[in-house]
Amino acid sequence: MSEQVFSFVEEVNRRRSFAIISHPDAGKTTLTEKLLLYGGAIRLAGSVKSRRASKHAVSDWMEIEKQRGISVTSSVLQFNYGGHCINILDTPGHQDFSEDTYRTLMAADSAVMVIDCAKGVEDQTKKLFHVCKMRGIPIFTFVNKLDRAGKDPFELMEEIEKVLGIQSYPMNWPIGTDGNFKGVYNRKKKQIEVFGEGNHGQSVAKVISGDVSDEKLKGLLGDSLHDQLIEEIELLDMAGDDFDLEKILAGELTPVFFGSAMTNFGVQPFLEGFLNLTPPPAARNSNHGMIDPKTENFTGFVFKIQANMNPTHRDRIAFIRICSGKFEKGMQVNHVQENKKIRLSQPQQFLAQDRVVVETAYPGDIIGVHDPGIFKIGDSLCEDGSGVQYEGIPVFAPEHFTKIYAKNSLKRKQFLKGINQLSEEGSIQVFRRPHIGVEELIVGVVGALQFEVLEYRLKNEYGVDVVMEKLPYRYIRWVEVPEFDPDNFGVTMDTLIVEDEEERPVLLFQNEWSIERVKERNKDAVLRDISLRKA
Ligand code: GDP
Repeated sequence: MSEQVFSFVEEVNRRRSFAIISHPDAGKTTLTEKLLLYGGAIRLAGSVKSRRASKHAVSDWMEIEKQRGISVTSSVLQFNYGGHCINILDTPGHQDFSEDTYRTLMAADSAVMVIDCAKGVEDQTKKLFHVCKMRGIPIFTFVNKLDRAGKDPFELMEEIEKVLGIQSYPMNWPIGTDGNFKGVYNRKKKQIEVFGEGNHGQSVAKVISGDVSDEKLKGLLGDSLHDQLIEEIELLDMAGDDFDLEKILAGELTPVFFGSAMTNFGVQPFLEGFLNLTPPPAARNSNHGMIDPKTENFTGFVFKIQANMNPTHRDRIAFIRICSGKFEKGMQVNHVQENKKIRLSQPQQFLAQDRVVVETAYPGDIIGVHDPGIFKIGDSLCEDGSGVQYEGIPVFAPEHFTKIYAKNSLKRKQFLKGINQLSEEGSIQVFRRPHIGVEELIVGVVGALQFEVLEYRLKNEYGVDVVMEKLPYRYIRWVEVPEFDPDNFGVTMDTLIVEDEEERPVLLFQNEWSIERVKERNKDAVLRDISLRKA
């Protein structure tokens, strides 16, 4: 079979780039694996399993990094399905590495939220959902594990609306719950889709579909399930939110699909329904206004940096989201922030589990380029001299803080180098006490396990043993006032005033009560829990 040739515009239009978000164990990895299976990218499901191991312990995370020389934190899985070129922006499974997921969402055009039907909307789902909401990208919901006992589907819909504050529209409706999952009713096609017994989800599920009144399907389901379905369809049509594509695209209404990633039931209806609705790469905001992905000028931005992905080479990879134009291997581009010309010579893409060198790539794609230490998160690249610079990538609120020193003060130079590089990767945030200076460093992370990774990496990659003294702070706020004067800013006894790496004033709090007191005492100050990196 010869490969189909697409024009540049067709290449852009057929791209669908999204991230899957979920609370750990809801089934993100399993769903990713099944999407690859349907896309023909893997023959038998199970190949993504090695990634799954990565989330259980830090030691696994590091072992895998070491042995396989690839990043298990997040990369991109690309495959074709139904004429679309799909990029799944993979994210780490463990919630302590969720900052990585936050940043990856900056590069995605839509998100799929996986919910465990027995657990409903969980904590981590809420946090990740808010990042999607902030970006205004479309959010699709896959209610998973329908093969098992779970909450009532109507109750789940209500929970999504109440807890997340987003309207929902079920695209399909489960037939048979609590261990008796037989199929789904497709509301758009108004047809029943009954799944055939598969080989434990290892290959695609067979589907028999037909009209609601089809006697054969009725027989397959049995009278009571069929009657229940008819009742529920009526109820949905009467009581639910209306389908509204504009709201979906604005992230105000989430299309909901029911299924079971493990058995493959509902995976294909989801994939097809999702691809029908999820948009191709959209225009992105920059200092030159909105940039259309179909403009010829190649542009993109760095959303993730991962050092030492391959320990034998000590390389550092910058992940670039392409926003416009065609990328070609070896092309010369301007690094906008540094105002420097650079050649992108070893661009890589991550197909399922392999790294390959890419020759060409299009808007919506992610490429990894070798970074000799010139990139920072949020940096923009631009083919011509116009200096297009995309909006900065937010710095998310760390929730754990520690003081940190090198055990051996002679290693201070190495220590600072390591801290600096890891901070550029975005895996830690560094703060200083004003007037105390560099002697006392405070590091903040989103998830506590990141401290262990920090300690491990400083020792293994920079040869520095460190001492950490955990601090009691849990909340961070960036302060915005016309003139910040630390001596006259009213804070509570247990609040610490620090500066971030860009010398912006930051407050560390132990409890929410103190945040409220500080707000009351400083009416002219705005306290933010997310800050933009300076462009
Ligand atoms: P992740 O943490 O969100 O990536 O979740 P995983 O995909 O690793 O799944 C967590 C656990 O749930 C694993 O044991 C899966 O086998 C199981 N699981 C995933 N999908 C389903 C499903 O549809 N039904 C059932 N019964 N179990 C599932």
